[in-house]
Amino acid sequence: MSHRLHSQPTDTKSDSPASGAVGARAQADLPKTGHLIILSGPSGAGKSTVVRELLANCPLPIELSVSATTRKQRHGEVDGRDYHFVTHEQFDHMRQAGEFLECKEVFGRGDWYGTPVAQTEQGLKAGHWMLLEIDVQGALSIMDKRPDVVSFFVHPGSLEELAIRLRRRGTDDELAIQRRLEVAAEELQALKHYKHEIINHQVKLTASEICNILQQYC
Ligand code: 5GP
Repeated sequence: MSHRLHSQPTDTKSDSPASGAVGARAQADLPKTGHLIILSGPSGAGKSTVVRELLANCPLPIELSVSATTRKQRHGEVDGRDYHFVTHEQFDHMRQAGEFLECKEVFGRGDWYGTPVAQTEQGLKAGHWMLLEIDVQGALSIMDKRPDVVSFFVHPGSLEELAIRLRRRGTDDELAIQRRLEVAAEELQALKHYKHEIINHQVKLTASEICNILQQYC
């Protein structure tokens, strides 16, 4: 079996980022009625497909958090479903108003991503399992505040395999791919802070493995 599962508790204190751009409202405790799930991993690891599969086939009441981003909408993406696509001005305004649980500039190219706190709060209050598909820095800042978060690090097994998948996906030019690979190499260093490591070879298997693990938290 290709999946390696780690069950060590997280210890994020020394690695949690100092910069977080987290608003006052986001610093308040989130409701604890539902569960908070974080899924991170290198861009191109197949996270979005795994998430779709999980939402379609896992019987738990999982709700995907829809992030806001300033990056350009890609072909096939739907505003409000894949992301809330906003301008830099709108994003800054949301950030200053404390509307994000966390937000980060993910690839160091000026594109910002943020988890809206309102949707997360509402989902948790409703008893949902709120699924946040976010980058490592954002994940670490949440883990620091919520050690009970169920965290997964999904990756393709090696940087070579990741490069193949990014080129096959065809959504980025070579420069962007190189940047994504550099970020992935850095992100792999944070693997130890996640409760579960999953190597994604086969989407259906990966999603069912995650679902099985989540059921152990019921
Ligand atoms: P993409 O541009 O390929 O959709 O996403 C790039 C990266 O941003 C992915 O690693 C994704 O997990 C991360 N990301 C998406 N939404 C958020 C968010 O709200 N916060 C943070 N910190 N990262 C996010």
